[in-house]
This record gives sequence, C-alpha cells and structure tokens, in this order.
Amino acid sequence: MSNNNNLIDVIKPVYVTEPFLPPLEEFQEYLREIWENKWLTNNGQFHREFEQKLCEFLGVPYVSLFANGTLALITALQALRITGEVITTPFSFVATAHALHWNGIKPVFCDIEQAHCTIDPDKIEPLITPATSAILPVHVYGHPCNVDAIQDIADMYGLKVIYDAAHAFGVRVNGTSICNFGDLSVLSFHATKVLTTFEGGAIICHNEKMKKRIDYLKNFGIAGETTVVGPGINAKMNEFQAALGLLQLKYHENNRNKRQRNTNIYKEYLNGIDGIRYLDEMNNTYHNYAYFPIFVQDDYALTRDELYTKMKQNNIHLRRYFYPLISEFPTYRSLQSSVSADLKTAKRISEQVLCLPISPNIDVEDIEFIVSLLRSDVSNI
Ligand SMILES: *Cc1c(COP(=O)(O)O)cnc(C)c1O
Repeated sequence: MSNNNNLIDVIKPVYVTEPFLPPLEEFQEYLREIWENKWLTNNGQFHREFEQKLCEFLGVPYVSLFANGTLALITALQALRITGEVITTPFSFVATAHALHWNGIKPVFCDIEQAHCTIDPDKIEPLITPATSAILPVHVYGHPCNVDAIQDIADMYGLKVIYDAAHAFGVRVNGTSICNFGDLSVLSFHATKVLTTFEGGAIICHNEKMKKRIDYLKNFGIAGETTVVGPGINAKMNEFQAALGLLQLKYHENNRNKRQRNTNIYKEYLNGIDGIRYLDEMNNTYHNYAYFPIFVQDDYALTRDELYTKMKQNNIHLRRYFYPLISEFPTYRSLQSSVSADLKTAKRISEQVLCLPISPNIDVEDIEFIVSLLRSDVSNI
C-alpha cells in the first residue's frame, strides 16, 4: 500500500516498551539529598519511605525492596525453605525458572489456560509428587491467576504458593491487591516494567516475622552487629533506585490510564480483523495494561513470524513474549521427559503471540500505523 510507504519514511523506530522517566529536575532533588546525607544503601531514608509508600499505594501489609526481581524470587524461595520440586509455568520470562534452578529446585512445568495465559489449575494436581513443595505461578501480562483454585490445591496438599507478580504492579481483584494472595508475591521494577527503578524488585508478605526474615536474607543474613542468622545474599535496593521509585509512584496512575487508552484504541481497530485474537478484560479486575499481546491465528494472512518480520522492516520492534517456552531452552528441555507434562496450550500460544507497543508516550499515529500494517494483508477489509 503506497500509503504506508510514505509513512515509513517519517516514522521513528517504535519499541515494544519504552521506559517512563519523570522530569530530571525532580530526580535531581533526590540526588542532592543523597549527596548531602551520604547514605547510599542499607535501609536508607528513601528505602524506608519507598517501602512504606508502596504498602499504602498497593494496599499490602509488608514490602521488602530488592535490587532486582530475580534476586527477590530467589530469596522468596529461600525464605520459605522451598526444596525438591516446584510446579510452575513454561509461559513466562526465563527468570521464573532460573530462580528455582539457583536454589537447586526442579521446575515442573504445567500447561496454561488459553483464556488468559496463566497456569491451568486443572492441570496442577497430576504433577504433584512427594517432592513437590510449592507452586510458582505467574500473573502473565498482569492478568491474575485463578488464585482461589490454586490456593485450594495448595491447602489440600500442604504446598506453599509464591506468585511471580513481575507484570502485575497495581493490579487489583475485587478491590484488593493481587499481591495479597499466596504466601509471597514478587514484583519487578526493571526498565521494561510498568513502574521502573532502573533495576529493582520487591517481595510482598503478610506478617512482620516473615518480613524480618526476608530482610535478613537480602543482607547477608545479618541480624545484628555480631549475629548472622543464615546464608543470606546481597540483594538490597540502593537509595538511587528507591528515590526513583518514590518519584515514579506520583506518575503511575496517569501512565496506567494512558496505557488503558492505548489498549482501547488497539481493540477498537482490531475488532473485525480476522485471525487476530486479543485478551478480554477480566471481571472485577483493575488492570494495569502492562502489555498488549495479540495472538495470530491460522486464518490470518501471515504467520506470526512473517508479521513480526514485516513489522521490523517497518521499524516497529515487537517482542514475542513468551517464545520459546522456558521448557524448550537447553537448561530445562531435559526435564520434560521425566514429568511428561502436556504443554499443548502453552506451546500453541507461544507460537501465536506478539506484543504490541502500548507505552504511555506512544503517539496515536504510531498505533494507527501499526494497525494499518496489520490490516494491509487482510483481503476482506
Ligand atoms: C522481569 C521479570 C522477572 C525478572 O525481574 P528482574 O527485575 O528483571 O530481575 C521475573 N519474572 C517475570 C515474569 C518477569 O517479567
């Protein structure tokens, strides 16, 4: 379409995520304070304030900040002394399984639900063995897992539940934070996430003793000047990260609303394009619109990878979150034969998925351009 060719010349590259950064002047004020106080890390003023503000903002009882989400996941498993086997999803960022691996735990991959791409509770039970100690589900794209069904299984078998909530900052179900479910939830504040502290993460827990244990573990296990209670790690968030986090909270809701607007624009345009599926909103859920995945079906004019390449040629850089499945990487491939899990839905979804850009600052013209590329191969429009 000649129309598009004109646009190609003027459009700047569009990436699937673009981090939001607050005005530099505002961050500089925090920097000045850090320079004056010379307190750079170890539970400083901004660290304490960010933990407290996060509790209020999210509506959760206890937050423990981390240098990044992966260390938070690794530490969460340590905090609950998880061992043996853990049932998790192959349809996630690879860090979910890596956190198990670094703890010497065997990930057992369970299939996902087609409707929202989260772990399928009906498939969990057959994977439980005497070695199973926990379930590690992921709120993929910020869509809440079926937390009630998962908790029922956990209660029945005496398993712990740790949620990888890296995508789910600010998501609420029936008015309560999604992070209030399970034993622990883990957030990420990586540059690609909806709230970023450059790098960063957090564990949400439900009682003060657990918070204390987690705080020891993230600081070498140090409980006092002469007391080390366990083999902790250095996973602390520093004052620079905490300061940015405090500032980001101010802008979060506005950014969330812009991503919601972008999501609605896509949905309106995509309605009626055969062969492109997108996810429905969930009942009683306050979404964060972290991602806008589409699923390229067999009746679309191009395959998913042809569409991905075509977009790239037009300077639209999309990501296939999540392809390949974690269970297909060399580290984890060999595990599958022993558990013989059926990952059919996850496999199919991973071969269809493509995430479109919805960052708060994307221009509506860019969205329209992306949609025009999506439509240009569809004969019936
Ligand atoms: C980003 C992410 C992580 C890892 O978080 P980092 O802060 O990058 O270490 C873990 N799980 C999921 C699902 C993620 O998307």
